[in-house]
Amino acid sequence: MKALDIINKKNRKEKLSYDEIKYIVNSYVKGKINDHTMSEFLWSVYYNGLSIEETISLTDVMIKSGDVVDLSCINKKIVDKHSTGGVGDKITLIVSPIVACAGVIVPKMSGRGLGLTGGTVDKLESITGYKLKLSRKDFIKELETVGCAVISQSETIALADKKIYALRDEIGAVDSIPLIASSIMSKKIASGSDIIIIDLKVGSGAFMKNIKDAVKLAKTMIKIGKFYNKKVICTLTDMNIPLGRNIGNSLEVKEVIDFFNGKYDKRLYELSVYISSLMISSAKKISLKKSKELVINLIESGHAKNKFNEWIKYQGGDIKNLKDKAKKFIVISNQKGYINSIDSVKIATLVHDLGAGRKKKSDKIDYAVGVTLNKTIGDKVNVGDILGVIYYNKNIKDKDILFKDAFKIEKKKRNIKKIIIKTIK
Ligand code: URA
Repeated sequence: MKALDIINKKNRKEKLSYDEIKYIVNSYVKGKINDHTMSEFLWSVYYNGLSIEETISLTDVMIKSGDVVDLSCINKKIVDKHSTGGVGDKITLIVSPIVACAGVIVPKMSGRGLGLTGGTVDKLESITGYKLKLSRKDFIKELETVGCAVISQSETIALADKKIYALRDEIGAVDSIPLIASSIMSKKIASGSDIIIIDLKVGSGAFMKNIKDAVKLAKTMIKIGKFYNKKVICTLTDMNIPLGRNIGNSLEVKEVIDFFNGKYDKRLYELSVYISSLMISSAKKISLKKSKELVINLIESGHAKNKFNEWIKYQGGDIKNLKDKAKKFIVISNQKGYINSIDSVKIATLVHDLGAGRKKKSDKIDYAVGVTLNKTIGDKVNVGDILGVIYYNKNIKDKDILFKDAFKIEKKKRNIKKIIIKTIK
């Protein structure tokens, strides 16, 4: 077999066999073909697409390129949750303890942020002492004791995806439905859960810019799940505006602590309750309505807060000791009207430039920096009102202007897009 023959076959829009896909992926992992040749293959897939059979073959080859976690020793339903990446998305930190409280096991292997979207691992690293690396034995012990555990993605899971994703990111071939579907699903299936709930972000701040493409991606992931006998549910959620009031690592952890203390942003609350309910209802086979009642009760009774504290402490974290030393800059509105939109890309770019995100994997980040939105979508604002706060350690020219530029303030209040667009099973 030759890599070039396989690439040419795809260029002619012909279907590739399992063995051809296996050959090209494994050759790349073993260093037998170089980045240039692999880029040509990825571009060909990017432009010509893959059938569902080819997408499943690619997923399978990537799963088999690394370890597969076996959680069958745990005698309870295991539910994983994945977000395709958003701005201000701290949902994992909220739903994991809620769902664990309901007796459903949540094993999370999360990633670091790359580009504009933040990563759960970076948020947790802003808690002093929190251990992100656990042995397989300790991970399972925590799942059995606490019910949830969040660790960094093992380097040995879906090895091929790691190498291919890094190359896709470098050459700009990320937003391809078969490539995203196989990348996400290879990691999720190798992680050992029975049920996988996917929060599929749609909008300017997400990989999927429109609902049509997002539905296509959802259906592809569901079909891959069926092939492996895993239940996959995808919820399409709006990512045109940031999620919640804080964007930046330690600031987002503070928002989670506030959440469990009863102080929450409406859209963040709505999505957290919905995703938790979906996870519990699919694991326990109870109605979504019943599951939602249970979730609200777990939040209001303080059980979810206790579970959050138990989980963080178990992994060595001290929530009273966050890496949050930064200077504050208060941004005052010079406009009057209603906030009809907050551009998530503009906010994410500012937060990234402040030092909260990385351009390359090896970049160091500043856990303390970011922004707080004192006013949010739908709010009325007057000249002189506090629009938000910028937390910074290095100065950025015109940071307040960049911040204000993200807000669309108009005389007339417009309808606000719903956070939950639709759920596909
Ligand atoms: N997240 C992933 O894990 N892979 C992709 O390709 C895109 C988002």
